[in-house]
Amino acid sequence: MADKKFQETLYSGWRTEYTCAEVYFDSETDHQRLIIFRNPDFGRMMMLDGITQTTEADEFIYHEMLAHVPILAHGAAKRVLIIGGGDGGMLREVLRHPGVEHCTMVEIDPGVVELSKQYLPNHAQGAFDDPRTNLVFADGAAFVKETTDKFDVMIVDSTDPIGPGEVLFQDTFYANARKCLTPGGVLVTQNGVPFMQPDELRNTVAHLRNLFADASCYLATIPTYVGGPMALGWATDNPELRNVSQSVLEERFQALGLKTRYYTPAVHKGAFALPGYVSEIID
Ligand code: SAM
Repeated sequence: MADKKFQETLYSGWRTEYTCAEVYFDSETDHQRLIIFRNPDFGRMMMLDGITQTTEADEFIYHEMLAHVPILAHGAAKRVLIIGGGDGGMLREVLRHPGVEHCTMVEIDPGVVELSKQYLPNHAQGAFDDPRTNLVFADGAAFVKETTDKFDVMIVDSTDPIGPGEVLFQDTFYANARKCLTPGGVLVTQNGVPFMQPDELRNTVAHLRNLFADASCYLATIPTYVGGPMALGWATDNPELRNVSQSVLEERFQALGLKTRYYTPAVHKGAFALPGYVSEIID
């Protein structure tokens, strides 16, 4: 019998097809259609509403770059907020920093957390049980509007701006997010692949530049987010954080003794060097 296939339906004119060696779950949660299956090249992987979210093979790139870049640039982050991130990979990377005393994670879909715990346990690696974790099931946009809590680093680990993730790309969300940051705090966002989704990045950076003293993006290449490097949005009222020297980053990184597979202080610095076509989108 021929192998089952799943197609990613993110782009109208381009289909990525994954061979499915085994399906673990394929059903609707209260918010979205969730599929977890095994692909021979990427291991276990999750799709939401036909869009690839995470795979065992390449998740480290995305999670390391969205967690360690803002935390190491900040240098003294104690309180971190994650919006989305239901698979637990971001929580795992954030909590590898012993200086982080508290991490609130706000996920809209309890189904993603439960099924990831069951079928993608290598993502969280127990992070949901860490005493520093405060897991909240709510819409991230409503949470940042209502909370009075403050955070040094905020990471938007969202789906694309389709379905429940759409509100996380709007100016009201970014304005409320800014209110949740301590002075000089940093906001980072997943912003899609600029070659394929230029409007997503253009709109986010334009909103962020209206709100913050410094806003830009940095890049990471994640094989299953096809079409070139992915853009990760960056916003803070402290412009120095984008210019922390490589030697200071090295000191902070060495002091932690973190073992990473993509992040290095040199990659951190280089990630902010933007190719011309990306600068054209945001400037
Ligand atoms: N790495 C992934 C990517 O870029 O495709 C993101 C992975 S993570 C699974 C995305 C999470 O965002 C999902 O679990 C989804 O339920 C959550 N999410 C979407 N909209 C949300 C919202 N409005 N508030 C909180 N979480 C949301």
